[in-house]
Amino acid sequence: MKILNQGKVKTVYDAGDGRAIIEFRDEITAGDGAKKETKEGKGSINAEISARLLSLLEGNGVATHFQEFQRPNKFIVEKVEIIPVEVILRNIATGSLVRRYPFEDGSELSPPIVEFGYKNDDYHDPMLNDDIALALGLCSREDLTLMRGEALKVNEVLKVFFAERNIILVDFKLEFGRTRKGEIVLADEISPDTCRFWDKETGDVMDKDRFRRDMGSVLEFYSEVRRRVLS
Ligand code: 5GP
Repeated sequence: MKILNQGKVKTVYDAGDGRAIIEFRDEITAGDGAKKETKEGKGSINAEISARLLSLLEGNGVATHFQEFQRPNKFIVEKVEIIPVEVILRNIATGSLVRRYPFEDGSELSPPIVEFGYKNDDYHDPMLNDDIALALGLCSREDLTLMRGEALKVNEVLKVFFAERNIILVDFKLEFGRTRKGEIVLADEISPDTCRFWDKETGDVMDKDRFRRDMGSVLEFYSEVRRRVLS
């Protein structure tokens, strides 16, 4: 199959008939790919978590690219053109937000903050405002409004879903794509690579920050997220 895109941790193949296959590989990266390791089994864990969450969102009125989970580590998806805008939603201040602004680490953000970033490793995914996104020709103002609304909807569904599993949904990053018909749908993945999850009881970090910050037990916590997501 023809490779459409070889990303840092996923490979996208053309499956014909307006469909694509996404393969979740076992690499884990941080710092725009500067730090990289392979963790056997990580691809299938993220694929399974993501399949469950995207199906859940579809069932709650969020249009996504997801069609079918092919065990252990592949998705069949609707082929879309990814909009190079990262949509970040934050329920709790941490990470790059507290490095850039005087928020107290761990403080609740109510209402949540939605940020846009330019998906571009060479420029380290800089924050975008509407005018910059338009001037760069990334998407329209209406597209940004739609993506913001969808991100808030995703948050409403996932915040409750994770709370029921004793996990605090701290923040997450979404990507959207344009279908052949021009519709914008939620694309990419939703996993411990793209979200921050904290255990509600212990405060344990259960996401990629364990790798970013050399905290160890990365796969153990990804597996625990999978266990709770599938419960
Ligand atoms: P921060 O801006 O605090 O580094 O990240 C906010 C949230 O978005 C975190 O859940 C983080 O995992 C996610 N995020 C931001 N940028 C990226 C990115 O380029 N790749 C991935 N996988 N996640 C990102």
